[in-house]
Amino acid sequence: MLGSKKKYIVNGNSGIKAQIQFADQKQEFNKRPTKIGRRSLSRSISQSSTDSYSSAASYTDSSDDETSPRDKQQKNSKGSSDFCVKNIKQAEFGRREIEIAEQEMPALMALRKRAQGEKPLAGAKIVGCTHITAQTAVLMETLGALGAQCRWAACNIYSTLNEVAAALAESGFPVFAWKGESEDDFWWCIDRCVNVEGWQPNMILDDGGDLTHWIYKKYPNMFKKIKGIVEESVTGVHRLYQLSKAGKLCVPAMNVNDSVTKQKFDNLYCCRESILDGLKRTTDMMFGGKQVVVCGYGEVGKGCCAALKAMGSIVYVTEIDPICALQACMDGFRLVKLNEVIRQVDIVITCTGNKNVVTREHLDRMKNSCIVCNMGHSNTEIDVASLRTPELTWERVRSQVDHVIWPDGKRIVLLAEGRLLNLSCSTVPTFVLSITATTQALALIELYNAPEGRYKQDVYLLPKKMDEYVASLHLPTFDAHLTELTDEQAKYLGLNKNGPFKPNYYRCLGSPETRESG
Ligand code: NAD
Repeated sequence: MLGSKKKYIVNGNSGIKAQIQFADQKQEFNKRPTKIGRRSLSRSISQSSTDSYSSAASYTDSSDDETSPRDKQQKNSKGSSDFCVKNIKQAEFGRREIEIAEQEMPALMALRKRAQGEKPLAGAKIVGCTHITAQTAVLMETLGALGAQCRWAACNIYSTLNEVAAALAESGFPVFAWKGESEDDFWWCIDRCVNVEGWQPNMILDDGGDLTHWIYKKYPNMFKKIKGIVEESVTGVHRLYQLSKAGKLCVPAMNVNDSVTKQKFDNLYCCRESILDGLKRTTDMMFGGKQVVVCGYGEVGKGCCAALKAMGSIVYVTEIDPICALQACMDGFRLVKLNEVIRQVDIVITCTGNKNVVTREHLDRMKNSCIVCNMGHSNTEIDVASLRTPELTWERVRSQVDHVIWPDGKRIVLLAEGRLLNLSCSTVPTFVLSITATTQALALIELYNAPEGRYKQDVYLLPKKMDEYVASLHLPTFDAHLTELTDEQAKYLGLNKNGPFKPNYYRCLGSPETRESG
């Protein structure tokens, strides 16, 4: 996100119209998959989805069946063959996975209950392209319960949980996805979702922008019937703003990525919960007493620091922004320059969204066995390319773990080749995904039901009131009791008793872009 500049503009009653200018937009766009090999495709696609969380690791299905799902004739128990998954026989196991996820997705379950009478998505034909995981399945089944018809493809060639895809196909969802798709499979699956006789989508739910791009490229006429796009990832949102800027966006789009609930929970709490998991799975390390430097004290950095401090690590922080730096000090962390501690630390974690925060010079000075990893958006924070020189030896010691060895025998432990540690090497909490999925569902409902003219051909943030509603749906899980404003208090603060409780520009503390707007 660094290098990006956001400006939020209040747009009448219809929520916030966000205009975001990204300095590195062009660069992001160039990362789109083109005609390249499977490996690089997987990279570019997973990069495009880096802000939407799902475990990239399928832990089942080491099946030897090498037949491409495209060459298989499969039917579900109702006789439908309108799907393409690895193995429909895995449906039962996938159903159990979905049931487990339901436990941690209370808001979607609440939406389903409320929908028993009303069907706010009746008549909606949603085409989706997201990670296909148990959490997505809960979202899809909720959309179904709200009245929508859905067809779905995967936004990442490796992240599909085959058994979950099978369970969805078994319960009648046309799903076209399996783990380990080729580039050709990837686009074929998307095409099978949209190019159907007698069915045309009227809503898009995208994660990374590939589905939207495909429809723009192949079936532009479809946009005549499409009421809106809901986009989840940073990259997909960049693309939408580019389209909008070029005057080519022909339907309203909702930027879910920048919803307050998503930012607050994905960034801070998700990272607080997953940083230790990522480090532990890759290195089996003990955290107590270890010296760690965390670069960047935004939401992600705050989450990482809190988790490591709680485990007894000695945590240093680097920052460029005096406000975040002061927050680090007030939270009890030593604010340092990376150079000052680089020789002594056991772990270096980058969380800035910036580039070249850890340079070759830093890497040269690290002590033997220092662990280096990144929790920021892309793989630019650590200058990994500078380590690919003839004098250094790379040794792959585990999946996603490389030892880089200097001529004198010193080695550093590089995790996930400098890509997002938690997305590459651990799982992320379902509860966080629940918040994001609920935001997606509400954005779909809002765009689908909005009266003519409320949203124009532009990119919008979810109205603040709905953002607050997403949070309120998650409160009962904690038996939390929210205080209600008295009439007198509401009048005093100039608020409606039912919200919204904060102005539209109210965002998370800690983010330079958002403070700028606030
Ligand atoms: P943020 O903007 O709140 O925080 C980044 C901080 O880094 C800022 O305070 C900034 O001042 C600081 N910074 C910038 N350059 C620096 C430098 N050279 N040295 C030290 N500090 C520097 O952003 P955030 O919400 O914390 O997100 C950080 C990154 O993590 C983004 O790229 C975001 O996309 C990504 N992200 C990752 C996950 C995940 O699960 N791993 C989740 C959400 C976001």
